[in-house]
Amino acid sequence: MTSKEIRNQFLNFFKGKAHKIVPSAPMVVRDDPTLMFTNAGMNQFKEFFLGNRKAEHVRVADSQKCLRVSGKHNDLEEVGKDTYHHTMFEMLGNWSFGDAASSDTAGYFKKEAIQWSWELLTDVLKIDKADLYVTVFEGSEDADNLEMDKEAYEHWKAIVPKNRILMGDKKDNFWEMGDQGPCGPCSEIHVDIRTAEEKAKTSGASLVNQDHPQVVEIWNLVFMQYNRKANGALEPLPAKHVDTGMGFERLCMVLQGVKSNYDTDIFSPIIREIETITNTKYGQNEDIDIAIRVIADHVRAVAFSIADGQLPSNTGAGYVIRRILRRAIRYGFTFLGIKEPFMFRLVNVLVSVMGEAFPELKQQRHLIENVVREEEHSFLNTLEQGLVLLESVIQSTKTKTVDGHKAFELYDTYGFPIDLTALILEEKGYALDEKGFEKAMQEQKERSKSASEISKGDWEILSSDVEQEFVGYDLLEADVKLTKYRRVSSKKDGEHYQLVFNITPFYPEGGGQVGDKGYLEVPNGDVVYIVDTKKENNEIVHFAKSLPRHTEATFRAVVDKKQRQRTAANHTATHLLHQALREILGSHVEQKGSAVHSKYLRFDFSHFAKLTQEEIKSVEEFVRARIDGQLPLQENRNVPMTQALDEGAMALFGEKYGDTVRTIRFGQSIELCGGTHVRNTGDIWHFKIVSESAIAAGIRRIEAITSDAVKDFYTKSESVLAELKGLLNNPQDPVKALESLQNENTRLKKDVEQLLKDKAKNLKGELLNELEEVNGIQFLAKKLDLDAASIKDLSFEMGNSRNDLFLLFGTEQNGKALLSCYISKALVAEREMNAGTIVRELGKFIQGGGGGQPFFATAGGKNPDGIHQALQEARKYVV
Ligand code: ATP
Ligand code: MG
Repeated sequence: MTSKEIRNQFLNFFKGKAHKIVPSAPMVVRDDPTLMFTNAGMNQFKEFFLGNRKAEHVRVADSQKCLRVSGKHNDLEEVGKDTYHHTMFEMLGNWSFGDAASSDTAGYFKKEAIQWSWELLTDVLKIDKADLYVTVFEGSEDADNLEMDKEAYEHWKAIVPKNRILMGDKKDNFWEMGDQGPCGPCSEIHVDIRTAEEKAKTSGASLVNQDHPQVVEIWNLVFMQYNRKANGALEPLPAKHVDTGMGFERLCMVLQGVKSNYDTDIFSPIIREIETITNTKYGQNEDIDIAIRVIADHVRAVAFSIADGQLPSNTGAGYVIRRILRRAIRYGFTFLGIKEPFMFRLVNVLVSVMGEAFPELKQQRHLIENVVREEEHSFLNTLEQGLVLLESVIQSTKTKTVDGHKAFELYDTYGFPIDLTALILEEKGYALDEKGFEKAMQEQKERSKSASEISKGDWEILSSDVEQEFVGYDLLEADVKLTKYRRVSSKKDGEHYQLVFNITPFYPEGGGQVGDKGYLEVPNGDVVYIVDTKKENNEIVHFAKSLPRHTEATFRAVVDKKQRQRTAANHTATHLLHQALREILGSHVEQKGSAVHSKYLRFDFSHFAKLTQEEIKSVEEFVRARIDGQLPLQENRNVPMTQALDEGAMALFGEKYGDTVRTIRFGQSIELCGGTHVRNTGDIWHFKIVSESAIAAGIRRIEAITSDAVKDFYTKSESVLAELKGLLNNPQDPVKALESLQNENTRLKKDVEQLLKDKAKNLKGELLNELEEVNGIQFLAKKLDLDAASIKDLSFEMGNSRNDLFLLFGTEQNGKALLSCYISKALVAEREMNAGTIVRELGKFIQGGGGGQPFFATAGGKNPDGIHQALQEARKYVV
């Protein structure tokens, strides 16, 4: 059976059990402060488990793209080393939202979940029952005082021999969403794919959950029946849910009769391609095999993320992606000897394996290739630079052990991987002070942890079962009641409150647009400021500095109108800008991200070249024409997705199942959008692009401003111009005046250079007189008032007169220190002196570094006060 058939079999089976088949949610999570990437099938359904929203379909099944590289689930370090953990994988899942009921299509619980999983694996997919084991939660005696899951045990006992039902502890068989929230016992299904011989020797039961590569968990059935509170206590959930997850790649391994996920038809074409490109062979050497698995795995994770709109970057989710890609590049570099970009060449075969099931890969193929190639290129440069830096660290190491803090600096500041450092040191006969490295690492972790640590209290529920209503498209004020609140504190933001209302006019951060600010009018006359608004698990949460005193009262919630209007103008302008770019540059332009603030807007898009001045002008004029045209907003809040797309609406990244689709139209611009907009494009008043730049290979960024901000922009430009004119003594033609000033400046510079040269010539004679003989060497260490180039000339001039010189000159220029060392070539050869090493060592006195050749080298630093000491130390190199 091919992997494609297996995926379909799974979905069809649950379709036959009255499940609604839904598409995978995006792997990159947006608008959820608690999660960067989807790491389990249930993520997109969280709000149903929490009871914030009712599910449209009670039974659902899908195949979800997951990524386990950060937070609670992080398998990154295992990937490649073993044969059954991936960073990105597909999780097949079936769900029931809500409790068991009588009718066929209603919710179900343990009995059906267990029976159906067994039916699918053994009847439909024909896995040998003798290869399967199941686990049941054994209960835990600790503070939770949880009972064994007898219910699941009984259901299993009806279909599975007793000796194949194993008891599992809390770590393996009790599932929790986080520190708080829904949780419950689970039952796992494990498969033993060892040879008959091995099975006869060691029983499979003894290998379950023992990290054996051929006795692996394939399916986890979670039965959510409790809610964990902030104080650790458990309370029963009013409605119970089923949440299952099966590893697709592992299932394919079992059904295709291979011993590793990497031998399935999902991975083997990619592996063949890696072999071809890198001229290696898979299956002959463990180090090479690991490297090939790492690369085959990571190229998927990176490609899927980019297709989902997440580019590698220096922060957040983008940084995680960058690190994954770099891990693969480094394995290629170290174990396959690849020093050129090559991973981008794997995108092609990846698209042919997965492009049908995930069309976004096909659509974004060129972008993925470009971005990966560019990232590879720059990281390979970093690696090379890192090697040089590491070399200088080794040179300055007196013992045979390299300081862990220095290695950490290489890792932290230059992105040079620590295992590569260790490997190179080992090859050169040095050891790494691992303890020191760990310590430095730990210290940094503590620093960033304590800065980001957040403690959340329990939600205080004032009224439950209220579905929140958002009225902010039509109103900026509303009378609201608190339905729940909690206290949150963090070192960074101090203490604040999160408030949820039954109704709210506040727009929560999302779709690139910032959250509303504003205030609450409290009956006693007090005001409570709302400093931000965000969405969490599909609920709008208001961030307040304090808690209103009478929580039961009705409050007037008022959105900051000015900020909202400016933000709306920027959001509408973003749509017009998008339309303009596609008209003017071409339809290859696709939105890659946006940020809509009250003060400015930012728009990232795919395009291969820098925009010319004319293009920028045309784009501005296009947008301004639509502002002048006073196009009214045409909004449709409830269109079926397909209809919206048919009408030509631009959808961004894969929308999530169950989202209501809203279309926003201004003239010919139609987009799917949840943001707030002006009533008429005339309200934007004016539009101005303030910058255009590249942010990644093939991705450009435009920043622009509208309305009041444009007025401020021109007012500022005007005053700068007035000031410039003033400085130039108010000439008729300021441009001409500036040009003649520049010409004069060039001429003067030349004169100064000549004067300095003359001065140096005189100086040469003086300095030759000051030479002092030390140990047969003519020595001089002195501070001069010359620039770097003149000092170099001077040194070489002096060198023409004598061949036994050691010169160290220091100078201070613009608050910076410079050392330069000249040693006659004869001395370099005879006495093995090295100016490069000397300036590097003396560089520490001026807090800097440098290098050069053995006979001439310079170091720059930020501490001119250290020049004196460096000059004094110089003598020790000649005595
Ligand atoms: P394991 O103990 O093997 O890491 P898990 O307990 O982390 O698995 P779950 O969180 O229960 O797994 O996820 C459900 C299913 O998803 C697992 O039964 C497994 O088949 C699959 N799975 C989990 N992690 C990975 C991964 N990193 N790569 C591929 N498949 C995975
Ligand atoms: Mg795991």
